[in-house]
Amino acid sequence: MLDQRRKQLLDAMGIRRWVRRDLPVEALSEPGRTVKTEVTLPATPAEVPAAQPATDWEALRAQVAACEKCALHASRTQTVFGTGDRNADLLIIGEAPGADEDRLGEPFVGRAGQLLDQMLLAAGFRRNQVYIANILKCRPPDNRNPAPDEILACSGYLASQISMLQPKAILSVGGVAATTLLETGQSVGKLRGEVHDFGESRIPLVVTYHPAYLLRKPAEKAKSWIDLQLLMRVLRGVA
Ligand code: URA
Ligand code: SF4
Repeated sequence: MLDQRRKQLLDAMGIRRWVRRDLPVEALSEPGRTVKTEVTLPATPAEVPAAQPATDWEALRAQVAACEKCALHASRTQTVFGTGDRNADLLIIGEAPGADEDRLGEPFVGRAGQLLDQMLLAAGFRRNQVYIANILKCRPPDNRNPAPDEILACSGYLASQISMLQPKAILSVGGVAATTLLETGQSVGKLRGEVHDFGESRIPLVVTYHPAYLLRKPAEKAKSWIDLQLLMRVLRGVA
């Protein structure tokens, strides 16, 4: 069902003192700002065929690790469940593991992940202060786009993650996450710039470009920074 939305834009999440409000776009590519951390995962679209309601994180993690619900199980090295703070206010949702993630078992640990870390830092978050997950938990071979049946098969896991996390806001990165979560065919360019509602609890959701895209088109980082500022306002309860 498509009608599910509404949640509170709760109280502000403190922006760290060292975060400059006028942070230039270049900050997103400032190497010194990267902070490595452990993270755990996020959730799913509201209306996916719910998988077994997992009773807790470890049960869900075990379920994902053993999953053979789509063909991707055959080619994966390991599943990539998600990482970070299970009490985080902010949930980041990407697309699917790439080669580095498949090898290491953690989302966003390759080049795109390093840029994501920098983007998060610019917004005042270390990696371990948010939760990071993907739409798909297994790597599509050759980094091809996720197929619709794979997204459908996997969606219950993200849904469980989201319902356990109950984040105050979601940052959707890239076209696959945005079109899946918002059930639309529209582009990131069209979807960014406003606050969407996700799911029955209407969690505020902000759309931005995928860091892998920003690596190819650095000029678009300026827009991504605008998106992050919108996200920060949402978390502060002023957007
Ligand atoms: N790209 C994604 O969307 N997710 C990852 O985990 C890594 C790269
Ligand atoms: Fe299961 Fe998702 Fe992996 Fe497919 S991508 S095998 S549904 S965990």
